[in-house]
Amino acid sequence: MQLSSLLLRRDADAIWHPFTQVGRSMAPLPVVSAKGAYLHLEDGRKILDGISSWWCNLHGHSHHEIVSAISKQAGTLDHVLFGGCTHPPAVELAEKIQLGLGIKCGKVFYSDNGSTAVEVALKIALQRWKNRGDTRIKIFALENAYHGDTFGAMAVGARGVFSAPFHDLLFAVERLPVHRDERALDGYLRACKSGTVAAFIFEPLVQGAGGFVMYPQSVLEEYLKISRQYGVITIADEVMTGFGRTGTLFVSSCLATFPDLICLSKGLTGGSLPLAATVCREEIFQDFISTDHSKTFFHGHTYTANPIACAAALASWNLSTNPACSEARERIQSRHRSFVQSLGEKAEEMQARVAGTILALNIRNQTEYDYKDPIGEKVAQHCLSRGVLLRPLGDVLYFMPPYCVTDEELTLVYSVVREFI
Ligand code: PMP
Repeated sequence: MQLSSLLLRRDADAIWHPFTQVGRSMAPLPVVSAKGAYLHLEDGRKILDGISSWWCNLHGHSHHEIVSAISKQAGTLDHVLFGGCTHPPAVELAEKIQLGLGIKCGKVFYSDNGSTAVEVALKIALQRWKNRGDTRIKIFALENAYHGDTFGAMAVGARGVFSAPFHDLLFAVERLPVHRDERALDGYLRACKSGTVAAFIFEPLVQGAGGFVMYPQSVLEEYLKISRQYGVITIADEVMTGFGRTGTLFVSSCLATFPDLICLSKGLTGGSLPLAATVCREEIFQDFISTDHSKTFFHGHTYTANPIACAAALASWNLSTNPACSEARERIQSRHRSFVQSLGEKAEEMQARVAGTILALNIRNQTEYDYKDPIGEKVAQHCLSRGVLLRPLGDVLYFMPPYCVTDEELTLVYSVVREFI
């Protein structure tokens, strides 16, 4: 690892980075500022953020409308505890989210990140059955799933290198395939009928960290239909898919069976501040209303519904719901599709796939997804040398730009990708 600057040397002395093994991973990029689709490095280089800074940046970095909302809110109400207090940005944002999801009632429970949004959903689902005096505790999830790095989120995620040191401590979860499988469907139906299944959690249509697996809606609809029929609580983890990533604002609104709980984070603030929301159907919430203390949902975080983060989310919401934004998303999707077409036979070989603004392909066309495949880092280094930040997951290369990306910038990334194809 070459530490070319004082900042990097100080970083190496003081900081432990996420998903990073010292000695094996590349040195971090010394980013001193960011604007639009670009990160500006200490040495003057300008790097195109091809992965929207871990999938959260929607409208470009330091967008003036988000910056202005943050600054205004910071001078009005910076933070207040959310237990026993409320404030305008939190209420307005909750109303907007419900409107965007197309639900008339229900509740929004705030937290800080994707993992906590999932923890909250799991805890609400499990406690809901307890509150009803029901003993259901079994949870179903999809194969390849990734829902975050806290314990509950890890448990519902597929077992793999991320969770390996903790496998003995993770609660058991039943898996369902993302392709149509009669036996699996039958097994799920029988489990649901037995009245032991508490919840089913899924990433709708695109499984991100599991290798950008894109699976058919029809498979999901069948699981959801069975779940609803037997009262199983359905949890849509839209942490990555939310806010237009797959084309529509939320996948949940396009499903025939609307989920009971929806987890949102990442794009919620347009990638400016940490915030998450777990949206809950009114029917589930009703089972927590009681004079009995033990039925209270005892969960909360210090920065729950931080007003500055909520104000940033409102500004980002206005940008996301502007027709110009959906036009931009359509433009990106259609450019991704043309690129895939231009790959000819290679497209099929590499399983090139597109969902909204997400483009993914398997560099080596491996059948088994391997996060540790060293090809990812080699490709990342090549892209970086051409001014583009991409971080393949093993041999799965994906491109997910902020919606402000221009046609020229898209063309640049496609040409860089084409170079190693
Ligand atoms: N769910 C999904 C679908 C995700 O993609 C992620 C993060 N990649 C998470 C949950 C966890 O989010 P966070 O990193 O904010 O905890």
